[in-house]
Amino acid sequence: MKQAKYVFVTGGVTSSLGKGIVSASLAKLLQARGYSVTIQKFDPYINVDPGTLNPYEHGECYVTEDGAETDLDLGHYERFLNVTTSQANNVTTGRIYQHVITQEREGAYLGKTVQVIPHITDEIKRRMKLLGESGKYDIVITELGGTVGDIESLPYIEAVRQLNWEVKTEDCIVIHLTLLPYLSTSKELKTKPTQHSVKMLLEAGIQPDVLVCRAEHPIGKDLKKKIALFCNVSPNAVIEALDMPTIYDVPMAMFKEKLDKIVLNKLKLSSAKEPNLDNWLGFLTRHKNPKHQVKIGLVGKYVELPDAYKSITEAFVHAGANRECKVDLEYIHSELITDSNVEHKLHHLDGILVAPGFGDRGIEGKITAIKYARQNNIPFFGICLGMQCAVIEFGRNVIGLKDAHSTEMNSKTKNAVIDMMPEQKKITAKGGTMRLGSYWCELKKDTKAFRAYDKPKVQERHRHRYEFNNKFLKDYEAKGMIASGINPDTKLVEIVELKDHPYFVAVQFHPEYKSTVETPHPLFIKFIKAAIEYSKS
Ligand code: GLN
Repeated sequence: MKQAKYVFVTGGVTSSLGKGIVSASLAKLLQARGYSVTIQKFDPYINVDPGTLNPYEHGECYVTEDGAETDLDLGHYERFLNVTTSQANNVTTGRIYQHVITQEREGAYLGKTVQVIPHITDEIKRRMKLLGESGKYDIVITELGGTVGDIESLPYIEAVRQLNWEVKTEDCIVIHLTLLPYLSTSKELKTKPTQHSVKMLLEAGIQPDVLVCRAEHPIGKDLKKKIALFCNVSPNAVIEALDMPTIYDVPMAMFKEKLDKIVLNKLKLSSAKEPNLDNWLGFLTRHKNPKHQVKIGLVGKYVELPDAYKSITEAFVHAGANRECKVDLEYIHSELITDSNVEHKLHHLDGILVAPGFGDRGIEGKITAIKYARQNNIPFFGICLGMQCAVIEFGRNVIGLKDAHSTEMNSKTKNAVIDMMPEQKKITAKGGTMRLGSYWCELKKDTKAFRAYDKPKVQERHRHRYEFNNKFLKDYEAKGMIASGINPDTKLVEIVELKDHPYFVAVQFHPEYKSTVETPHPLFIKFIKAAIEYSKS
């Protein structure tokens, strides 16, 4: 049984400094040295999980194998490490309080006043140690959401302080990520905000062991020394984190700065074994030296915020590298697509992806885009709502069911080709009640889906309420839209594709959640392959 060591990553000065990427990069380096590592994220907001947030709030909601709706940083962890995460890897204030209040109602603290300290902080610490106590990991990296000084982060910082005292010095360290702003008038990086944010940590009783400093220009030895002096760390524990061309360059940048070595030394773990990053570097080389180029249109309604489609954009990076192809993504607002402008908006694309989503805003634009892809033999990939729209489009324009629709958008339609299952209809609560997580899908031989996966049965992750209505399946198959993937237990349709189209595949699940640097998703690979062929035809 392994005794886990704990690395906490806090943020200072501003948000959006990339704690998730720094955490994932450090984890990658430690994993490449042979350590088993996991990462968890603690978010200070009061939602029990991010499933009820719209993507404009914190970007995409990432779904794990076990059906947890989680922060998008978990997607980075899986993509970098190529290992799965679970509900235990993402905790929110809402979840902590929900647990403590349930306990209180059950009488667990009878006679006592239930307080932030110790009850909330105890529950935070219990969750912080949960994965470490599983015996599976050498190192557990915990990313604390938010910025030091935020009111809502206080209990987490306090929990880290307590935990730091409770375990041996070499079993727990704190990395603080900050920003060194650059003043262009005086042409210098400023350290004061970093000093202040470290002071704030010190006031809370935490001395950071390592400082990772984001900067637009090299920091230099003297500045590192100065930061070290003011913040009580050694100069080699001041790590320069310059802006990188891609997030996938960050592990190598951190390796050059010896972040992994410093962390291992502080944790009194051996750094004798050099990291094996062959696969990672192979991916980077392919990613940076493409032989082909395609333009893919991503049709969705959250296009103002690319983080809303994070896993999809990263899946294109992985599949593009696999095919040695540069994938230019063009975000196209589905609300702005109409019958009269669709040609103008889409004619130059080598492939069209219609994205997941909820509600009826932008639906007709998605359906119009799909019709255009179908009729013009442009490679098409539909995901979740994207598949449902493909089914609606085919129902209306090929089968002739003029009012074909999903009951999500039109509860009165006579042709509910997408509908809720009876078990779903009974549910009224909105949090965590969709079809979530991993389900089996059986693939039909001699289909595009089967050729992509090259196996008869796969597991994919879901996040939706509505399903293909099997009442219509015969009519669809007779006209050429076939169900090439079916759930063996419930017979729900998981994949549809067109027989007479170079590449028209749409899936009810979310393949993007399972694409990683080392195992790009087969459906994304085949879609890119089809787009390359289309671009050359
Ligand atoms: N709104 C659709 C449903 O609930 C699709 C969801 C999605 O695209 N993730 O079934």
